[in-house]
Amino acid sequence: MDKIIMDTAGFLAGLENAFPKVYTTEEVIQEVKDSFSRQNLNMALSSGKISVFKPKQSSMQEAMEYVRQVRDSTLSKADISVLALALELRPCLVLTDDFSLQNVLRLMGIEYKSVKVKGSVNDVKEFQYICEGCGKIYKHKVPECEICGSTVVKRSKKG
Ligand SMILES: [Zn+2]
Repeated sequence: MDKIIMDTAGFLAGLENAFPKVYTTEEVIQEVKDSFSRQNLNMALSSGKISVFKPKQSSMQEAMEYVRQVRDSTLSKADISVLALALELRPCLVLTDDFSLQNVLRLMGIEYKSVKVKGSVNDVKEFQYICEGCGKIYKHKVPECEICGSTVVKRSKKG
């Protein structure tokens, strides 16, 4: 499995618990100030689940070069340290919802994944119930079709 690198948002969402081991940087750890997240983070840190790196100055500079290419000035020092770590650790997978970070990672050819912390509405699957006999659609589960008495099955609304 690729090494999982997490940015600040990931820790704020408690995502470190979803993986056996995660990698991050000192700058990211310092950005986690919310007390609940901090507590979780400290626990994960003391259990050795999180590997904290300080990227080399040369990696920071290499990351800055990529940032300059995308002409994005919204990236913080913590963001750049995540990019630098990704350069050092490859192969890795960076978990981030930050579009600016994703743009640079794409340029670097490093894999990333959106964590969708809050969850998008489009991701919630909608279901309906449909009669296998006559095709009548029910919004709620019914034991059998009230029209033809056939079995009513659950279907995803989309597709
Ligand atoms: Zn029916």
